[in-house]
Amino acid sequence: MSQPSVRQPVVAGPDAMDPGPLVIEYTLEALNHEGYINANVTDQIPTLENIAGDGASLRLWDRERLLATDPEGGEVGESQLGKGEPDHIHPTLQREQWIGIDERDWQAILPSIELASRFLDDPHITPFFHGLDNATELKDPLLKAAYGDLKFHRFDGDNSVMSTDAGFTNALFAMMSMRDQVQLRFADEGRGHASTSWKPGFQVADMSFHQDFLFILRQKAGYNPQRWSRSWAPGTHEPSARFRTRVLLATTIVHELAHCAWFIKCKGKKDLPEPYLRDRPVNELGWELENFIWTGIIEASGRGVHVSAPYGLHIERFPGRWFGDDPDRYLYIRGAPEDWGVTWATQYPVSMEWCRSLFTKEYWEKVSRYGFIQVRPRRLKGVRLQVTSDSRPEVGDDTMSPKSRALLKYREDRRIKAMKAGVKADDIDSSDEEDVDAQSIVVRGKHKKELEEELRKQREEDGDTEMPDA
Ligand SMILES: [Zn+2]
Repeated sequence: MSQPSVRQPVVAGPDAMDPGPLVIEYTLEALNHEGYINANVTDQIPTLENIAGDGASLRLWDRERLLATDPEGGEVGESQLGKGEPDHIHPTLQREQWIGIDERDWQAILPSIELASRFLDDPHITPFFHGLDNATELKDPLLKAAYGDLKFHRFDGDNSVMSTDAGFTNALFAMMSMRDQVQLRFADEGRGHASTSWKPGFQVADMSFHQDFLFILRQKAGYNPQRWSRSWAPGTHEPSARFRTRVLLATTIVHELAHCAWFIKCKGKKDLPEPYLRDRPVNELGWELENFIWTGIIEASGRGVHVSAPYGLHIERFPGRWFGDDPDRYLYIRGAPEDWGVTWATQYPVSMEWCRSLFTKEYWEKVSRYGFIQVRPRRLKGVRLQVTSDSRPEVGDDTMSPKSRALLKYREDRRIKAMKAGVKADDIDSSDEEDVDAQSIVVRGKHKKELEEELRKQREEDGDTEMPDA
């Protein structure tokens, strides 16, 4: 893909982000040259209206069913559909679901809504939501010991739901039925992209997206992507950056809907943190869903990760460098990355060609034939980052008998083993395996030697020994 020439003044914007590892290592100029930053895109992007997903077709063919879809099992009125709303827009995201936006706002965010709708209407997403709906209690003695008053759950993607029409049809309708219990809006979300909270008074999950999404897509004065870009030649192409913001808004909407599904299922009860996927260590449903779709999480490059994405997007595996709990957000991370076998993580730039493909018929035909994994972003180059784990506190406390402490230690060792195996198994279809195809991988930081040595050993263990030239 050729890059458009950018004719803006080459100056650092007032809120310029620091470059992240990818930009430092490869430089913006090189990334741009290879199609990761500027591309021939315009703000007139093709509509997805003609590429309606299965969910959209179901809404068309089975209007009665949709009207009768209500979480409490009762009848709901015609309002369930949103009068005059095109069928390819997912019911949870239709115009009247949004608070405080006008027609111009709606038009600006519409491509993102269409893209998010397309993901939510594809049968390949149903194993995640159906599995989540069937979460079961997690019997983890260590979590119980630490947070006795909370009830933890686990779930697994349920692929059997895809094996019959009735299976995924029911799951898609169940996702649509969240409509009456979600609302969306834009607000100042500080350093985050979005947040979802439960409003007990209204019994709705309230999704709030960073207002800069809206301001950038609306092309509000002063909200051009250069505001967040450092000075470089030829500079960040505005429509390209907006295109990335559009993709990021769509992925963020899909992400937040995973949180909504859990809030709705447990009616926002505070003693029910989000469930863990299988034996994985981090209970963050939004990231698990992203990982389920793209085998990694997609984020703006640069330090400060703002939705303007002036330096392009990258993908990184999940769970990667996550540690530390955040009970305010109901995050209970079990152990440190080292415990689940992660000592390094790689950031791979995501090409503009891939971003553009999301809006094409070809992309969705491939999804329909092969599933999401075959059309995930290709990992052709990357920067490998050391994952430092803080040393974990000792299990148990001084008041415990040696026997109890030994039992607790045994259980923790067992849990760590399960998590490691879980994450490793998930990685087989995932990001870092693709390093073999990468044209370049850079290792950053002072641990470079250590890391390379570790990788070499790992390859040997896997039987993939590199022989010196004869
Ligand atoms: Zn989240």
